[in-house]
Amino acid sequence: MKLILIGPPGSGKGTVSERLTKDFKLMHISPGELLREEITKGTSLGTEVKQYMDRGELVPCCIVSEIVHLITLNHDNFLLDGYPRTLEQANLLEKTTEIDLVLSLDLSEETAVERISGRLTCEKCGFSYHLEYIPPKNAGICDQCSGKLIQRADQKPEIVKERFRVYKEQSLPLINHYQKKGLLRSIDASGTPPEVYALAKQAVEKD
Ligand code: AMP
Repeated sequence: MKLILIGPPGSGKGTVSERLTKDFKLMHISPGELLREEITKGTSLGTEVKQYMDRGELVPCCIVSEIVHLITLNHDNFLLDGYPRTLEQANLLEKTTEIDLVLSLDLSEETAVERISGRLTCEKCGFSYHLEYIPPKNAGICDQCSGKLIQRADQKPEIVKERFRVYKEQSLPLINHYQKKGLLRSIDASGTPPEVYALAKQAVEKD
């Protein structure tokens, strides 16, 4: 199965994809994660993309598309988490890959900002917490590796608002695009993580 997951920042794309990939045995392809790894490793690609990511902007299309297409060309079962994000990327992907289903997670901007602003990430191992929903046992310290918990630059409220604006401008047209192709299924992402996952699983099982 070739699956695309679309959703604004804070809609739970990360959690939903992690569970879908496990339950449906799909390869998880997340350009955001791949790019963050490059930043952590300090590569020249990492240095180039960091400026865009810190500002909440999209990274230039060719950088992301090249990475993603190298992987999708060689696999039949995958979940694309965060790609395509623009019509340009969707059209590029269609040249080489036939997608089976596009799952869209719907969420208001207000809920997105509230959710993301509470997130903390371990600067050492990358594990994610949320002040309200998944608090660490000891404030500011990672349960997994005792690393320091920080708020990533792109999790600050003003940057989340910018990411949401970019999502509305660049990614919402994708919803129309995939609806016309009869590939789209939308679910309400405002519930708790188990509620959202149950809806996502149902939507994929119907396919
Ligand atoms: P994510 O973890 O999916 O929220 O992505 C984090 C950041 O990585 C985004 O805000 C963009 O700066 C960059 N990024 C991820 N996917 C793409 C994409 N398909 N096109 C351009 N930039 C992307």
